[in-house]
Amino acid sequence: MTATEEADIVSHSDAAGGEPFYLPVAEEVEIFESAWKAKLSVMLKGPTGCGKTRLVEHMAYRFGVPLFTVSCHEDITTADLVGRYILTGGETVWVDGPLTHAVRQGGICYLDEIVEARQDSIVAIHPLADHRRELTLERQGGIRLPAADGFGLVVSYNPGYQSVLKDLKVSTRQRMVAIELGFPPAEIERNILLHESGVDGSLADRLISFGQAIRRLQDSDLKEVASTRTLIAAGRLMAHGLSPRQAAIAAIAGPLTDDRALRDGLITMIDSYLSGV
Ligand code: ADP
Repeated sequence: MTATEEADIVSHSDAAGGEPFYLPVAEEVEIFESAWKAKLSVMLKGPTGCGKTRLVEHMAYRFGVPLFTVSCHEDITTADLVGRYILTGGETVWVDGPLTHAVRQGGICYLDEIVEARQDSIVAIHPLADHRRELTLERQGGIRLPAADGFGLVVSYNPGYQSVLKDLKVSTRQRMVAIELGFPPAEIERNILLHESGVDGSLADRLISFGQAIRRLQDSDLKEVASTRTLIAAGRLMAHGLSPRQAAIAAIAGPLTDDRALRDGLITMIDSYLSGV
């Protein structure tokens, strides 16, 4: 794997940009903080775009520790997480993976969409996720690395999305504290929209009503409903000059479906919720 490919799977943040904005929805901040202090791993469950990643960024900032984020996919290997020897300038050197960085530095390692990774590549997290809190570097002769204070393992997944085959193993699940996140209630989502998109209050209200109407649809054949992320994207387009109709089609109806009939249905809703603004 080249350095560029590696950059695709991990992003490292020391929050140089200041405190990531996060509005608590229920007790997630409290539970997250207690889990981290108690040295327990965290499993964040919730639909895509509901704030899981933002919560982790916010918490890492609060704790004052670096965050190593890995977007999981099926080609991720244990070496991608733990590290590997690479040949550079005729010399073979060991390069830590994001998990090992977090273990050594006492940071948070966030495995986003963990169910996308193959089970055999994530077994390395087991001894880290339980009371042992140590990482075994198999490729370095089995060195056992105790996690530094401040280390935290966080994984996320969307329970409504993956196939049964991709379900998280019981042995992995039982090493974690679960925090369930849903979409924020209207008053909170409104404030998020105001902060993140730059729309005014009346547009925010309309977007929220539209988003909630989509979320109320039953048996609609939509695989996903409108997330906070899609509402923010629509708001941003509006703040940059698109009409509410154009923005909502581009940022909400388009991403949610490829099906003509479903798309037309969503556009009818857009016309009713966002017309005349
Ligand atoms: P997920 O990781 O669940 O897919 P994200 O954390 O990327 O979703 O959330 C998508 C966007 O929604 C974020 O970039 C942020 O702008 C916004 N967001 C969602 N929930 C919150 C929240 N509770 N407070 C602040 N922003 C939020």
